[in-house]
Amino acid sequence: MQITSFKQYEEDYKKSVENPEQFWGEVAQNFQWRKPWFKVLSWNFNEPNIKWFEGAKLNITENCLDRHLATNGDKPAIIWEPNNPEEESVTYTYKMLHERVCRFANVLKRNGAKKGDRICIYMPMVPELAIAVLACARIGAVHSVIFGGFSAKSIADRINDSQCKVVITADGSYRGNKQIPLKDVIDDALIGCPTVEKCIVLTHIRTPVSMLKGRDVWWEDEVKHVNDICEAEEMDAEDMLFILYTSGSTGKPKGVVHTCGGYMVYAGYTFSNVFNYQPGEVYFCTADIGWITGHSYIVYGPLSQGATSVLFEGIPTYPTPSRFWDIVEKHKVNTLYTAPTAIRSLMSYGDEPLNGKDLSTIRVLGSVGEPINEEAWHWFDEKIGHGKAPIVDTWWQTETGGIMISPIATVTPTKPSFATLPLPGIQPILVDENGNEIEGNGVMGNLCIKFPWPGMLRTTYGDHERCKQTYFSTYENLYFTGDGCLRDEDGYYRITGRVDDVLNVSGHRIGTAEVENAINMHAGVVESAVVGYPHDVKGQGIYAFVIYPDMHGEAELSKKDILQTVTRVIGAIAKPDKILFVSGLPKTRSGKIMRRILRKIAEGDTSNLGDTSTLLDPGVVEEIIEAAKKL
Ligand code: ATP
Ligand code: MG
Repeated sequence: MQITSFKQYEEDYKKSVENPEQFWGEVAQNFQWRKPWFKVLSWNFNEPNIKWFEGAKLNITENCLDRHLATNGDKPAIIWEPNNPEEESVTYTYKMLHERVCRFANVLKRNGAKKGDRICIYMPMVPELAIAVLACARIGAVHSVIFGGFSAKSIADRINDSQCKVVITADGSYRGNKQIPLKDVIDDALIGCPTVEKCIVLTHIRTPVSMLKGRDVWWEDEVKHVNDICEAEEMDAEDMLFILYTSGSTGKPKGVVHTCGGYMVYAGYTFSNVFNYQPGEVYFCTADIGWITGHSYIVYGPLSQGATSVLFEGIPTYPTPSRFWDIVEKHKVNTLYTAPTAIRSLMSYGDEPLNGKDLSTIRVLGSVGEPINEEAWHWFDEKIGHGKAPIVDTWWQTETGGIMISPIATVTPTKPSFATLPLPGIQPILVDENGNEIEGNGVMGNLCIKFPWPGMLRTTYGDHERCKQTYFSTYENLYFTGDGCLRDEDGYYRITGRVDDVLNVSGHRIGTAEVENAINMHAGVVESAVVGYPHDVKGQGIYAFVIYPDMHGEAELSKKDILQTVTRVIGAIAKPDKILFVSGLPKTRSGKIMRRILRKIAEGDTSNLGDTSTLLDPGVVEEIIEAAKKL
């Protein structure tokens, strides 16, 4: 099922559009099913009601673990790299991982969990997190992983939204030189969570915690009471596999639901193709398992393909901004998949952290989460890939389950800041405000998908109407992504930012990503975020928040330079009306800029900033509000 030439991509794409059921039926043959499907696809975008591989039975962990045992049991499945580089890294072979997952699955059963129950996982990036996820899937329980940086209130909201019965956590976690007392946070959260009966606690940082009798048990004790034999639960292809709350860049997080069969096929197929994964290679995705990228491309995608996946506990700048490069060298990483926010941050340290690092094993690079600006793209290409490693700029969403628009490594010719072409099976369409298709090339519009794909969301947990309203009601018979998009003369796609963030300046539609891309080309700029605000003459004016650390009292001069850069790159029409230098930007815990907050600040309306529970550092917001008053 691996695409090896552009010609084959074109053929597969054509087939996937002309005969989707046959196409996906064939792809699905590469996985292990207990019972085959009687219908590949039935669908209706109005309700919405989408079913893939109807009637089929499987367990995703048999595909991620059991089926590799006979031939690849001793191959590394997970290489764990701890926060502290002085500590030993740990390798789990497929055999070891299988054993741990089965054992912990029995612990879950012992604590009353069964098929269909929701289980909340709030853990550091340790192998036990992947083990917990897979153990839930093994017994057919639905996991809801919550990123280990969320507050008690955010956790309680999510636990209650899906009525979790069990919580799996740890005493605490390390992030750089910080320690986060996870169990304390969980204790606060659980005060308001009546559905939780059991809390399983892993010892990790060895900080004292309080254990509530009858509710809280230790991971280490529990595993002693069970054996490591656990037959996988037989699941229907359309049974729920997990719930994952979106990162909340645009509003209140939604509990996106993915199901067993379609998700497995899509995560596995896209992993194998987009990264052109070759047996024996070491693959390193720097995301956290608390986000969809970690679900699909640290755990399920790679393991379903028998790959070796690096799981990194720490952060890119600890103990030094060389950390990623040290990991690449140490584990001989072949594929590095990371986010523009990390790339931009590492770029700002200059070349020094790269000195003497052996990055020669790198064959493929990937980016996800936000549009990658050209400057960051080129830096990644030249400094990390040495001009030899294709960059896959992968556009997708929590809701899509897997990568949708992206180059296929070694196959698709890339272009900086373009996600390039849809993967086989994906039928993007650009529409105007009224939902009319915008045909041809060299056009911009709202990005929708007009045909189902196996990895798509089926509902939002407990609120199907919300799913319908959010994704399927804006335009009839289309899945609406919420993103704006350009299709250039070559038919290549470039995400221009959220539709809400597309600016309308004197009647010209300009994507926030385009303007930011131009601003970031100015040598002194680390990062920027652009929003629109009401403007008497232009309709919308452009307000730019710019991280520019090296001012030397020459701020006004630098502003002029930035304006010139934007004029040169896009045109005078895109020149920001206001530029505010800031030391940081409001970001979600997944590292994305929260433009809706900046929009409020730009509009001068800071009384109600909306849901800020997913904000990483509220202090930054206060600082920007103060600075904006003085502009
Ligand atoms: P919420 O839906 O709660 O507002 P979110 O959209 O940030 O949060 P995710 O599902 O993590 O949650 O992110 C998906 C979004 O990230 C996409 O809709 C798109 O805006 C952006 N994105 C992801 N990858 C890329 C990419 N390669 N290029 C451009 N944008 C991207
Ligand atoms: Mg979204």
